[in-house]
This record gives sequence, structure tokens and C-alpha cells, in this order.
Amino acid sequence: MHLTDGFGRQITYLRLSVTDRCDFRCVYCMAEEMQFLPRAQVLTLEESAAICRAFVALGVKRIRLTGGEPLVRRGIENLLPQLGNLDGLQELTLTTNGSQLRKFAPALVAAGVRRINVSLDSLDADQFRELTRVGDLHQVLDGIQAARDAGIERIKLNAVILRQRNLPQVLPLVDFALQQGLDISFIEEMPLGQVTEHQRHEELCTSAELRQLISRHHEIHPSDYRTGGPSRYWQITGSDSRIGFISPHSDNFCGSCNRVRVTAEGKLLLCLGNENAVDLKAVIRAHPGDDERLQQTIVNALSHKPERHHFYQDDSPQIVRFMNATGG
Ligand code: SAM
Ligand code: SF4
Repeated sequence: MHLTDGFGRQITYLRLSVTDRCDFRCVYCMAEEMQFLPRAQVLTLEESAAICRAFVALGVKRIRLTGGEPLVRRGIENLLPQLGNLDGLQELTLTTNGSQLRKFAPALVAAGVRRINVSLDSLDADQFRELTRVGDLHQVLDGIQAARDAGIERIKLNAVILRQRNLPQVLPLVDFALQQGLDISFIEEMPLGQVTEHQRHEELCTSAELRQLISRHHEIHPSDYRTGGPSRYWQITGSDSRIGFISPHSDNFCGSCNRVRVTAEGKLLLCLGNENAVDLKAVIRAHPGDDERLQQTIVNALSHKPERHHFYQDDSPQIVRFMNATGG
């Protein structure tokens, strides 16, 4: 069975949010005071596993766990092996802020996770604290080291660059990635949720601008490497490290979209930049154990996947949910 949407795109990639909670409060992702979901509204680990089983039965090959911060979800170490053992799943990956990696890296490796993304926006400890509001840079750097020691083979850093804050960190981050043998992707900030700390249109740094900045210091050439995600990659000549650019504003990637998201409360989101969603938790709770019904709901939902997102470069809250609620 295959999942194909109304525009002929085959869906092989699921991003599953296991919690909307997080131990950080990044300024572009959350408001300072957040109301998190009541526990009863969040998918149980069993429900999450059932949803993943249904997607894999429908031809999904890759699952990425995200959040919120996936490693603060209680019991995550029990979900990991269940997903890692799903027949037909080719890759289980994770996007994390890195704060809990020292504790969980061995469990990730044991479940077959070989590639992770770690968000890192600054190598300046004070600025890192400002951007995450509470985060400790050294804990994250230690987490990255722990992941490498445990046997995670490929680590990609993700950095959201805000013009008036961490633009000067672009080159230090690239140098760090090069020294450590990591990949790095730069992400244009997306208008998800209403932030109060900055005007989004004033902070936007386009991928083209960052590429230009980097190319003044490093010889880079386009690469046809793809991970199945929206990053477009450049290779630094003479190095293994790749530099990716995720450009929701400046370089629309929807034509090759192969993914859907399931939020922590079990909503199947067909597109990051649109609000339409289908409530899978309601189906599971009304019909526990009915795998066929769950699969049919997913197949039917796919016909509503929009063709593309439209982000405008102004500060109107185009999508009311925050990234932590979306599952970034
Ligand atoms: N907590 C984990 C982390 O930070 O990696 C996983 C969830 S987080 C929502 C996933 C990714 O979304 C992070 O790389 C983060 O930088 C990015 N992100 C959050 N809000 C964003 C926004 N408004 N625009 C662009 N990227 C955003
Ligand atoms: Fe937490 Fe990740 Fe959002 Fe930062 S980007 S607040 S680490 S979920």
C-alpha cells in the first residue's frame, strides 16, 4: 500500500511529535509563558506506536521523532525500541535540542538511530542562553560529544539565524561543524505562532545571503545530496561536512514534499504551513485496536494535503500554532 496525495506526491516520511513540552524556550519557537497540553490530550506512547505502525504499513520508510523536546517525554526510552523494530521502517531519526543527549544517546543507538539533528544557534554561552531563554550551551556541546561517543554516525546541526542576534555566529558555527565533522543546516525563521520578542520580518536572513557570507570564507559548491528533508546542500571543498539551507521563504520546496506530521495530541498535519488537520487520536480512542480504520483515515486524509505553503514576509500570525505544537 502506498500513500499518495492529490498532487501525485508519495508520502514516505513521518515526523512524529511526542510532546509539546520542552526544557528550553527558544525565542522564535515559543512565548516566554507557555500553556502546555493537559496530559490526557497528549497521545500515550502506545497510541504513538500504533500511529507509527499504521504509517509504516502504508509505506512510510522514515520516522523522525520531534517535539517540543522529544527527550523530555517520559518513557521515550520505551517507545524507541518499539519503533526501531518496525518491519519496513528504514530509518528512525530524531531532532533534539541536545540537552538530554548524554542520558539518552545509548538508548537511541540501541534502537537503531544512526542520524540525529541537534539545534544549535550560537556558540556564545550568553547568547545561547538569551536565544533559548534557559539553555546551557555546555550541556548541549557535551550532549553532542556523548552522541558521537555512543555511536551516532551522522549529526547535523540546525541553526535558525536572526539578523539582529546570531548572524555573527554563522561563520563560527560553520567552523565548529567543520572541526567536529558535522553537517549544519541554516533555517529561515517561519511565522508559526505569535512571538513578542522580535519582529520576524526584521530578523529574516535568507539562505542566499548566508551562502554568500559563507562563500567569502569557504569554497562551497552545490551538492546533490538529499536526506529526504527540505534542506538543499552545499559541500565545502576538501571536507566531508555539508551545509544545508532550509528556505521556506526564499526557495519553496513543496513540490518535492514527501512528508506529513503528527502532533503530540494526535492531529495529522498535512502541511507545516497550513492549518488543516485530521484527528487520529479521536479515531484511536473511539476504535481501539482497529488498525484498518486508522489506516483508512490516514489514506483519506492524504487527499486533503495542500499543494504548498504560503509564508508572507510580514508579521501577521499566519499560522497560530507554535513550532513546538507543530512538531518541528
Ligand atoms: N526541541 C527540538 C529542537 O529544538 O531541535 C525539536 C523540536 S524544534 C520545534 C525543531 C526545529 O524547529 C529546531 O531546529 C528549531 O530551531 C526549529 N524551529 C522552531 N521554531 C521555528 C520557527 N519559527 N522557524 C523556523 N524554525 C523553527
Ligand atoms: Fe524547545 Fe526545540 Fe522549540 Fe527550542 S526549538 S523551544 S528546544 S522545541
